[in-house]
Amino acid sequence: MKVDLIIENAAQLVTCASGGKPKRGAAMTDVGIIENGALAISGGKIVAVGNTKEIAGNFQTENVIDAGNKVVCPAFVDPHTHVVFAGNRLNEFELKIKGADYLEILENGGGIISTVKQTREASLKSLIEQSRRRLDEMLACGTLTAEIKTGYGLDTATELKMLEAIFELDKTHPIDLIPTFLPAHAFPPEFKGREDEYVALICDEMLPEAKEIINYQSSITNYFADVFCEKNAFNLEQSRRVLETAKRLGFGLKAHVDEFTNLGCARLAIELGATSIDHLDATSDEEIALLAASQTIGIVTPTVNFNFGSAHFADARKMIDKHCAIAVSTDYNPGSAPCPSQPLAMAIACRYQKLLPSEAFNAATINAAFAVGLGDKIGSLEVGKSADILILDTNDYRQTAYEFGANFIETIIKTGKIITR
Ligand SMILES: [Zn+2]
Repeated sequence: MKVDLIIENAAQLVTCASGGKPKRGAAMTDVGIIENGALAISGGKIVAVGNTKEIAGNFQTENVIDAGNKVVCPAFVDPHTHVVFAGNRLNEFELKIKGADYLEILENGGGIISTVKQTREASLKSLIEQSRRRLDEMLACGTLTAEIKTGYGLDTATELKMLEAIFELDKTHPIDLIPTFLPAHAFPPEFKGREDEYVALICDEMLPEAKEIINYQSSITNYFADVFCEKNAFNLEQSRRVLETAKRLGFGLKAHVDEFTNLGCARLAIELGATSIDHLDATSDEEIALLAASQTIGIVTPTVNFNFGSAHFADARKMIDKHCAIAVSTDYNPGSAPCPSQPLAMAIACRYQKLLPSEAFNAATINAAFAVGLGDKIGSLEVGKSADILILDTNDYRQTAYEFGANFIETIIKTGKIITR
């Protein structure tokens, strides 16, 4: 059979094959390695996976990539980011080094509100250009699919401008983007003392208008709404109103839960069928059991704790041992995690959350794909999946989490086309 492309002679073909479901428990330690592996690609999709001899015997092509005894693996999926924003928070970075914490900075009108101010002032063009540079960094680190949240507008016009920026970047950047609408990220200063009125604005105006402009984007079929349930952000009842409204409108659901304070939103989001619940630093054993028994993916964001210089991390080790499906993200954002690199997030997860490199690898690929609703299309090297593939300049995939701060990405292939080699 003739195919478009064959990649052969991989020291390790790391498939992360999962048979159509997210990985849990002991399966997290299996990255599905085929030694001396190869794969055949046609029409942008993987048509066969096996060892080099089998693939060479069964398929013909004019385009062969010799992987040269290196690692061939699925591209990374980053399931939780806030990449679209204006400006930076370099001053706050210094404040934090001097000892101020997130809630203190928030209470002093800094933090997220300073990014909101800059994002409101930025033109759509400037927002796109600033964000494009960050996506380039993520791409260089091997990410080919990323979720991006709004949430630095906190007014209808700017939240919709952020969505437009995500649509435009999705069309013009090699990384595939999944939009998540997050006007419930913080309360805008102009609603101080009238927080419930802002929740009403989200439910009555922002979510319906966002849904309408998403409907105009024929290429966008997978999209989410999200809420930040936390002290000084949205309480449980407000989070419920936002999530229930979003669900009724047809959004998939995500929720920032238990980052600092457990307000009970993990249970709420799981009960509403959320695709993911994210952060999980203060999640209880009872909620971990609920997560394990659900289809919801738990996304941990170890870059955030690392960025805070904190010794406390979400207990991803326990969650995996209790059979939760866990994914890792960078949470790339200007305040708590200015980090484009899934390999660095994996490296931190290994050291501070006691994941094995295999578990971190599955968490950043196949489980991350399920965490953005694309588990049937990307995240592993299995027949029928999009040929989103990396060749790493190492012969052992564990090197990616072991040697932190390095970049092993040698070749990037997006839907069967080489974009970097
Ligand atoms: Zn976040």
